[in-house]
Amino acid sequence: FTPGIEPQPTWCPGCGDFGVLKALKQAMPEVGRTPEETLLCTGIGCSGKLSSYFESYGFHTIHGRSLPVARAAKLANPGLEVIAAGGDGDGYGIGGNHFIHTARENHDMTYIVFNNEIFGLTKGQTSPTSPMGHKSKTQPHGSAKSPIRPLSLSLTAGATYVARTAAVNPNQAKEILAEAIEHDGFAHVDFLTQCPTWNKDAKQYVPYTDVQQSDDYDFDVTDREEAGKMMYEVESKLYEGEVLTGRFYVDEDRPSYGEEKRAIGEMPEEPLAEKYFDDDAEWERSADLMHYHR
Ligand code: SF4
Repeated sequence: FTPGIEPQPTWCPGCGDFGVLKALKQAMPEVGRTPEETLLCTGIGCSGKLSSYFESYGFHTIHGRSLPVARAAKLANPGLEVIAAGGDGDGYGIGGNHFIHTARENHDMTYIVFNNEIFGLTKGQTSPTSPMGHKSKTQPHGSAKSPIRPLSLSLTAGATYVARTAAVNPNQAKEILAEAIEHDGFAHVDFLTQCPTWNKDAKQYVPYTDVQQSDDYDFDVTDREEAGKMMYEVESKLYEGEVLTGRFYVDEDRPSYGEEKRAIGEMPEEPLAEKYFDDDAEWERSADLMHYHR
């Protein structure tokens, strides 16, 4: 994003990615964070373009690697509001290992996964969330595999905020993103985004139910067991044609990775970013590097 130049997204008309951008733009003023205080790291894919369209610092990383970059940035500069984003192929497939361990360690950031059940930018290949039987160029006879269960995976791994929303409901999406950004710890938002170009089944995302607004669902989001059962039902019903969204798990008590490390003295109180950008320290570091290369 270049200040002063309004970017023109190149997403296809009707793409759900517009819904993520809009919700994020609306959520940030509620959170009270400025573009200068925010870093958005993205992976590769149509979703990766988000960092070019959203007003903040941005880092468009390589495929599946938005989370390690986001983790490093947050640890070096804890004052930054760090958001990572990518698609279901990028995050649950190529970057799946990073997803598990970033959740396990409860790094303080928000992770938005654009879930359109295919790889969009590379023209519709089967992804980890494609339904069983889904036909694509890479699986012309239909996927033989059950889709991944991202919410359950996230909870089991250790995420402390887990939610699902959808581009077709901008109000809920904005509220959930604002909550996720304000959450201290790893906040995972599975964001259902239709891809009308390569996944014609996108219609499955409407209509849907917000579990917090429905009388049919009553569970405690702070209870792991109840949340786990709810997520399993949510993930099963998605592929049966019923879309359930909302907050499924919130743990406000577990300290983040950075807090834990600082508490036991394994990380300095002074942010690394400030240390290395101090004039004298920068000189010392340059001298060290010169010595190393000799
Ligand atoms: Fe969106 Fe699909 Fe077009 Fe990518 S290919 S911009 S995901 S509609």
